[in-house]
Amino acid sequence: MTSLPLIPVDPDAPGARRAAMPPQHLADLDLAGRKDLVTKLGESAFRARQISTHYFGRLVRDPAQMTDLPASSRDRLADQLLPRLLTPVRELACDDGATRKALWRLHDGSLVESVLMGYPDRVTVCISSQAGCGMACPFCATGQAGLTRNLSTAEIVDQAVYLAGVAASGKVAGSPPRLSHVVFMGMGEPLANYNRVIAAIRRLVAPAPEGLGLSQRHITVSTVGLVPAIHRLASEDLSVTLALSLHAPDDELRDELVPVNQRWKVCEVLDAAWAYAARTGRRVSIEYAMIKDVNDQPWRADLLGRLLAGKLAHVNLIPLNPTPGSRWDASPKPVEREFVRRLRDAGVSTTVRDTRGREIDGACGQLAAAEDSGTDPAGEMTA
Ligand code: SF4
Repeated sequence: MTSLPLIPVDPDAPGARRAAMPPQHLADLDLAGRKDLVTKLGESAFRARQISTHYFGRLVRDPAQMTDLPASSRDRLADQLLPRLLTPVRELACDDGATRKALWRLHDGSLVESVLMGYPDRVTVCISSQAGCGMACPFCATGQAGLTRNLSTAEIVDQAVYLAGVAASGKVAGSPPRLSHVVFMGMGEPLANYNRVIAAIRRLVAPAPEGLGLSQRHITVSTVGLVPAIHRLASEDLSVTLALSLHAPDDELRDELVPVNQRWKVCEVLDAAWAYAARTGRRVSIEYAMIKDVNDQPWRADLLGRLLAGKLAHVNLIPLNPTPGSRWDASPKPVEREFVRRLRDAGVSTTVRDTRGREIDGACGQLAAAEDSGTDPAGEMTA
């Protein structure tokens, strides 16, 4: 049994860690806030719109390319509104370049990762919301190192904007050049950094120049099941998809696999998920890592089927990704197929996730942000 994680659910609560946050960036602010800031700097308010158009609309961050801004104020505006938040350390690629994992160093030396996945009809980025994670799921590489700190809104948004630039550069062969989907499934528990994640979603979906202009329906927020935060998310009037990392249908096992279950039990977490589905009309994605001889027994498939039958839910089975030194293994394929069959027989929509990025430790549960993974870099990231 793993002890309860110590991270506060609300990072803005008294006592929450606030240290080492980065300088303010335009993506921390809405357009009105940017206009206020620019005005305080002695510039015309419309400069905020111009610089925002470069960043969100044209994916340009180099002041030298912002030739519609007067040379006398360009660098000063860029210093104040576009401080460098992410320094590319390494980019690894696999799947013929269609999957790319980026490792970034933050201003305080923290390391985070993001993954870009190109498909024929869409480009998805998986972004991190925290440096590390305090949720301590024992099968997850990120969870083993603990939480370093929450990311700022702009640090979260900048991962997507940067990788949108990589997609726009045509580096992801066989995929459209425009980023279309964002999943909060990288490092961290998004709902434990609630306010900043919600602000980041609002930037991602606001049309340019306020934001990146993505569809709300193309954003997925993953959680291990922080019940009060799920209810709060439902009240935001956002049509984002909720992905619930369930991983076990019974409390005895889930208490071990997802330690936060010691606080909010399976029935409470599922009730919150159904409340979210009812409020938003969005189908909830139930994430279930298939772990050999741990959670893959036929009786657990039947129990999961009974819990989900008739609900607005889809099960996404995830073949467990190997992590160095882990005692956990992926379920054998015949066991996985039987699990799928039983869920479908119960009337539950079920698919098995592909294992994109496995070779570069970019798959689910593998993001550990090690600076030296022993793998050769695929090249410097250029957006
Ligand atoms: S599975 Fe998700 S919530 Fe659990 S430790 Fe890993 S990153 Fe954190």
